[in-house]
Amino acid sequence: MKNILLLGATGSIGDSVLSVIEQNTNDLNLYGMTFNSNFSKAIQIAKKHSPNFIYTEDENCISELKRSLSDDSETLNGKFDLNSLIRNQNIDVIISAISGFAGLETTIIAAKTGKTILLANKESIVVAGDIILPLAKEHGTSIIPIDSEHNAIFQCLAGEMSTEDVSKIIITASGGPFLNKSLKDLVDVTKDQALKHPNWDMGSKISIDSATLVNKCLELIEAKYLFNLNESFFDLVVHPQSIVHSIVTYRDGSSICQMSNPNMQVPIAHALSDSRRLSINFSEIDFSSLNLSFSNFPEDRSRLVDIAREVCNFGGSSGTVFNASNEIAVKSFLENRIGFTDIYDVIYRTFEAIPMSNNLNIDSIYELDNESRMEAEKVVKSIT
Ligand code: NAD
Ligand code: MG
Repeated sequence: MKNILLLGATGSIGDSVLSVIEQNTNDLNLYGMTFNSNFSKAIQIAKKHSPNFIYTEDENCISELKRSLSDDSETLNGKFDLNSLIRNQNIDVIISAISGFAGLETTIIAAKTGKTILLANKESIVVAGDIILPLAKEHGTSIIPIDSEHNAIFQCLAGEMSTEDVSKIIITASGGPFLNKSLKDLVDVTKDQALKHPNWDMGSKISIDSATLVNKCLELIEAKYLFNLNESFFDLVVHPQSIVHSIVTYRDGSSICQMSNPNMQVPIAHALSDSRRLSINFSEIDFSSLNLSFSNFPEDRSRLVDIAREVCNFGGSSGTVFNASNEIAVKSFLENRIGFTDIYDVIYRTFEAIPMSNNLNIDSIYELDNESRMEAEKVVKSIT
C-alpha cells in the first residue's frame, strides 16, 4: 500500500489524483491532504477518503473542520504542522499540486524528505530548479513529473531519467483556445473565452497560461531542469489534438512518443505505478479515425520563447522574474484590469526592468519574487 500526501487536494490535479486512488484502493491510500480555501470540497474529499491528516492554513475553518470530520482524521494548521506532515515517516509519495509560486515552500520541504515527489507544480521548478534538483539529489528524493508532456518524455525514456542517447525532445502544445489566431486577433478576447480550453479541464491560472502559450514556455524551463539538458535539445511544436504528449528522438533516428486521449489520470497513474501499470478507466484512442497534425509554434510569440530560453541558459534569478510577472499579469487579466494581450507586455516589460543575477538562495527568491510582483504591478497600473 502506498501512502499519499496530496498537496492542493481541492484543485483540478487533486481531482485526477483522487480518481486514480478511488480506482486502485488496494494499492493507494490518501494518507494526508492540504487545501487552501475550498472548505466544502475539502470536507467532501475527507469524508470519502478518511485521510489521517488534513491541513489548511486558513485558521477560520479549523474548528468547523474538526466538527465535521470523524476522529480518524486529525486537523492540522500552522507551519510546524505542515513541516511535520510532509516529513511524516508513513508517507511514501508527496504530490505537489498547489498552483503557482505558492507551491514552492512545500516542494522545497518535500525535496528534503528522501521520498518520491510527483510534480505537477511546474512554477516551483521554474523559479527554483537550481535549488530543488540538487536538494532532491542530496537527500535521495526522486522527482517524477506528472505534467503530461514531461511524464510523456519520462515514459519515452523508458522510465530512466538518463538522456545520454537523446538527440531531440519535442514538447507538444495544444495551442489552447486561440489556436491559429494571431496576436492582433486576441486584443479583445474575454476571460471566459480564454478560460475555455478545448482539450483539458484545468485550474484558472494554468488555463490562462495555456491560452497565452506561456504554459509551454514554463514547461520548456521545467523540462530543461527535470531532464538536465540544454534548452537547444527541446523544440516546441503545436499539436492541436493533444494525443501525442511529447516525442523523444534518439541519436540512431528513432522517435518514440507517448499517446493517450487527453486525461491527466494517465500520467498520474503512470507516476504512481513504479514499474508496473495501474488500471484506470480511460477512453481508447480510435486509431482508425485519428488525424494528427503538427505545426510550428506561432512566430508572433517568439519573444516569449526567447525569454524562456534565456531563463534556461541563465538560470539564477531569471525564472523568478518571469514567473512572478506572469502570475501578476494573469491575476490582473482575471480581475478584468488588463486585456489579454497586455499579459505579454507585463511579462516583457518586467523582465527587462529587473537585472538578472546569479546569486540565488531560498530567501533571495522570496525577496525577488516580491520585487518582481511590485514591478509587474507598476506595469499593470501604467496600462489601466
Ligand atoms: P487549481 O487552481 O485547480 O488547484 C490548486 C490547488 O492548490 C487547490 O487545492 C488550492 O487549494 C491549492 N492552493 C492554491 N493556492 C494555495 C496557497 N496559497 N497555499 C496552499 N494551497 C494553495 O490548479 P490545478 O489546475 O490543479 O494546477 C495545480 C498545479 O498543477 C499547477 O502548478 C499547474 O501548472 C499544474 N498542472 C496542472 C494541470 C491540470 O490539468 N490542471 C496539468 C499540468 C500541470
Ligand atoms: Mg502540461
